[in-house]
Amino acid sequence: EPILKISQLTARVEEKEILHDINFEMRKGETHVLMGPNGAGKSTLGYVLMGNPKYEVTGGSISFKGKDITAESADKRAKDGMFLSFQEPLEVPGLSVSNFIRNALQQKKGGYVRLWDFKKELKKNLEFLDLDDSYAERSLNVGFSGGEKKKIETLQLMMLRPSLAILDETDSGLDVDAVRLVSKGVEEYQKDRDGALLIITHSTRILESLHVDYTHVMVNGHIVATGDGSMVEEINEKGYERFLNSVPGGD
Ligand code: ADP
Ligand code: MG
Ligand code: MG
Repeated sequence: EPILKISQLTARVEEKEILHDINFEMRKGETHVLMGPNGAGKSTLGYVLMGNPKYEVTGGSISFKGKDITAESADKRAKDGMFLSFQEPLEVPGLSVSNFIRNALQQKKGGYVRLWDFKKELKKNLEFLDLDDSYAERSLNVGFSGGEKKKIETLQLMMLRPSLAILDETDSGLDVDAVRLVSKGVEEYQKDRDGALLIITHSTRILESLHVDYTHVMVNGHIVATGDGSMVEEINEKGYERFLNSVPGGD
């Protein structure tokens, strides 16, 4: 049974139809990449999957771990093990990185997480991402650089080990070292083969060191092609041109 099954999904934002008849499935351990030109609807799909109330599902369904969640709240989806990394992560003054992640872990587990064990694991992963221990007690994302925000999201991914992780443009605006560390962290998550990973991107830097099972191309809110990991290379070399004519209004 797939972890995620999207069937004939259509969705709109601000009265505008953005996603049209989206169909695909993700199984445990798989990594899928969603690529496509700017404005294609990639982030919209991420928000719809996560249950952002601004984005309205107008048809079709989303099932997660065998349950129809089309009408579930974002909060419930997160508790059930869905994780979305944002293009612009939220800043929360007064909430420490450590408390934020521990709360999320406790909600996911539905129980108490021992502080000592948690701190040990957190310290290990901070080191892995080349972040100083002091980040644990800093307010979430407040005053963090773009690279630091992305590393903190990667830290969440490594600590929470969600059943479905959606990473939206995780590599945009990062320097080479940050991309390397973030993709190392994502690789750690991938290694467990316990969750499914959806990487949304229009660049391919983060994909260089990651294994990719399926590539989907989105144009004007339609998935116009699905292939294996080698499609990333093809798009790298030739761009989206060959996909643009496969959909109405896509020229
Ligand atoms: P991508 O991530 O592929 O670049 P988006 O999903 O961000 O594309 O955007 C797809 C389309 O939906 C664009 O035309 C964009 O302007 C529109 N859109 C996305 N979010 C909103 C919003 N909150 N309000 C109005 N229009 C939106
Ligand atoms: Mg965009
Ligand atoms: Mg986007």
